[in-house]
Amino acid sequence: MGIETVENERVERSNSKGRKGKRLWKKVKYQLVEYHSLPGYLKDNEYIKGYYRANWPLKQALFSIFSIHNETLNVWTHLIGFFLFLSLTIYTAMKVPNVVDLQHLPGDLLTCLPSLPHMSDLYKLREELKTSLTTMDHMLPSLTRWHIFELLSNCLPERFSAGNHTNVCVLRSMTDELASIVAPLARRPITRWPFFTFLGGAMFCLLASSACHLLSCHSERLSHILLRIDYAGIAALITTSFYIVAYYSFTCYPFFCYLYLGFITILGITTVLLSLLPAFQKPEFRNVRAALFSGMGLSGILPILHKLVLFWPQPEALHTTGYEMLLGAFYGLGALVYATRVPERWMPGKFDVVGHSHQLFHVLVVAGAYTQYRGGLVYLKWRDLEGC
Ligand SMILES: [Zn+2]
Repeated sequence: MGIETVENERVERSNSKGRKGKRLWKKVKYQLVEYHSLPGYLKDNEYIKGYYRANWPLKQALFSIFSIHNETLNVWTHLIGFFLFLSLTIYTAMKVPNVVDLQHLPGDLLTCLPSLPHMSDLYKLREELKTSLTTMDHMLPSLTRWHIFELLSNCLPERFSAGNHTNVCVLRSMTDELASIVAPLARRPITRWPFFTFLGGAMFCLLASSACHLLSCHSERLSHILLRIDYAGIAALITTSFYIVAYYSFTCYPFFCYLYLGFITILGITTVLLSLLPAFQKPEFRNVRAALFSGMGLSGILPILHKLVLFWPQPEALHTTGYEMLLGAFYGLGALVYATRVPERWMPGKFDVVGHSHQLFHVLVVAGAYTQYRGGLVYLKWRDLEGC
């Protein structure tokens, strides 16, 4: 009995030693390391001196989203950007209507016609509606005869009871007249796919980038795969931003519309294929990458100038160009910061966790994409009103 107890104690002690050792080993293994002790595939920016994760298991890399290291803010800047764009997509799908929102029209009718509830004479109402409807063109794109009839019935239920034939007849004739007023103003809303493709491109880019920054520290193989998806994401963002400009500027000029759409699609695919080359990912190719993505962006200048020539001096053409110039400024500054690695090159090791160039680049990318979203809304409104 006594011998057994001693034996058990010995086993237990050695077990607990083992557990402690394991825990200690884990702690040491998942500690952040310095630049000089990194494996070759993680050596990218010598001005960031410390706070690196290297060869971490996937689980630890995944949970490191909640701890401090030199990629924390790179992950979060684009993850927050992703959720921003997800919200914008849902909001836009719900709020920017595919057809004019008829739910709101009865209220609008009443505000446009202050005297309507007290109207005693239907003929007077007809005249008033005629003049009012011509000023309501902002909400008319999909008004139909049936809708007008229904709206008027809802507005004046007591006057148009089923038994009152005279009034129903008057209402029908009035509806016909109104429909003829409305018909020239009625237009189908413009195609939405280029706008939603852009939102999809932005979300893909932001999510791919977050995943790349979070998990690249796992292994050389995963790092190479994720980097390629990251570059494909940037190409997708630039290409789909261009789709908005090309499609909505040249809706009325199908030849140029498809020419520009085809051109940017080929340029985007070429960029993605180039980024698959192993050499493309080497740190010394940083400037080549920045130049290639900037070149893609700069090729957007041509359709923008073309748009200005065609639509000068329409306010929407100028307004959208304003957004595009702001977008160019954000992306241009982003590419410059990315390529020059400012500010960490001035004070190596001082911006490891907060403030290094890649974080600034990420914020500028989100700002640029949001600018394009706002510009895209102007295009939608412009084309919905002007049609083609
Ligand atoms: Zn990044």
